[in-house]
This record gives sequence, C-alpha cells and structure tokens, in this order.
Amino acid sequence: MKIVNHLLFDNNNKQVDFKPTPNKGGTYTPQYLVMHYTASTSEKGSINWFLNKEAQASAHLLIDTDGTITQFAPFNIITWHAGISEWNGLVGLNKFSIGIELVNAGRLAKSGSTWISQLDKKTIPDNDVIIATHRNETASTGWQVYSDIQLQVAAEIAAALVKTYSLKDVVGHDEIAPHRKSDPGPAFPMASFRSRAMGRKAATASPFLTTTTVNIRSGAGTQFVTVSDPLPKNTTVEILKREGNWSLVDVTDHIHGLNDIEGWVFSKYLAAK
Ligand SMILES: [Zn+2]
Repeated sequence: MKIVNHLLFDNNNKQVDFKPTPNKGGTYTPQYLVMHYTASTSEKGSINWFLNKEAQASAHLLIDTDGTITQFAPFNIITWHAGISEWNGLVGLNKFSIGIELVNAGRLAKSGSTWISQLDKKTIPDNDVIIATHRNETASTGWQVYSDIQLQVAAEIAAALVKTYSLKDVVGHDEIAPHRKSDPGPAFPMASFRSRAMGRKAATASPFLTTTTVNIRSGAGTQFVTVSDPLPKNTTVEILKREGNWSLVDVTDHIHGLNDIEGWVFSKYLAAK
C-alpha cells in the first residue's frame, strides 16, 4: 500500500476506487486513525450512504469483507465518521483523524436460534459469530467476525497511514465515544492491530506461555467477567501491559475458534516461552 497526494494506491500501484463524498469538511492534519464497523452487511449500501448528502456521514475508506477498498475523500480532507467524541484532550475527532469503516454487522441480535444483523436483518451464519463481551459492557452477546483478508488489508493500510502521517495512535470509535458507540467491538483484534500498525511488535514480541488453565478477564481483577472460556495450559500469549498482579495479554494462538482474544490474566500463571 502506498499513499500519494493523500490518495491510496494498492500493492500493484493502482489507485483504489475513489468515489468523492459530499459529506466532508476542509483540510486538516490527521493525528489518529479511528476504526469502525458499518453495522450494515452491504458494501453497496454503505457506499451509497456515504455518497448521500442527507446521510451527513462519511469516512476516508471502506473495506469490504473480501478486502475491496473504496476511498471517499483524500486523507487531508475532514470526513464525518467520529461525531461527538473525545480523545487525549482533543474534542470532536473528525478534525483530527482518518476514519476507516469495515463492512461488518457488529453487534447481533438473536431471532430464535439464529443470529441476525440488527441494521439490515441479515442472517449471520454461526461460524461467522463470536460470543464476546464488549470492553464497555458486562454482558456477552454475538458479534460478526471480521474476515482474515479484510483485517490483513486494513492492517497494511493502517501501517502505511501511520508512517505517512506520523499518526500518534490507532483507536476504536468505541474508545473515543464509549457511551454512544460499540464499533469496532470485541470481534476486532484491536491490541494486535494497533501494535502492528504502530510498529510496536518488536518491543512487545517476547512470548509467554500459560502454565496452567487460566481465566482471561475483561479487567485486572476477579470481579471482571471472563472474555472467553479459560485459556488451556501452554497457550502462547504476548504481554501488552501489567497492572499489579495482572497482565493484559494478546492471545497469539488460535483457540476456541477465536483468532484474537485479548484480556487480563493472573501474571503468576505466565512463564517466558
Ligand atoms: Zn463508528
């Protein structure tokens, strides 16, 4: 991926599909990258929405589940993806951030024994659903998984954007507007995505193994809910942060059908690999 004159070019040096949105502001200097899901399962529907003046919404990029990319405005032009939001003393992140939308249903609803998207009422097959607890909530529910190719393309773009614009961080809409927003949600591997984009992988790469079966929780304490079934003994994890007796870990092994669990475990059950 390459950025030339604030426009994105793919690995074959071809400019990605550019569909200019009317929903934009003036020029600005981006400091952050904000990740979103569309809630709509339709790429076409999302594109039409961002091109519709009445929507009053847009983003710089949309990435479909098959990795197809659409750009709606140059990266130095404000788009309308963040709304009322706050991060690190900045208020109204549209003026300070690039927005990437991923086509993904996000939070699902149960209809009988079937998971359906809340916005467009599409059936989501069980193997595209994870049961997880949102970082800002305490109860678990179903979320549509992101496809590997979609995450791969997004990660490559994020790294190119961080490098080109010297971005300070990658954040979720649910971090900058926690009371209003759930995207990109628990199906999005934020910790590893962020480290990869920021080039921090090398600094945090020393792997650890669980020495027994351990609970993995949404916070540093036994009062926090578990984010998945317990991690089996000898699961490989990376430590992202330590707090008291607890470690925030990114599970690098593929377990319980999930490819990116993140949560807190008791540090004494971790040993350097
Ligand atoms: Zn959003």
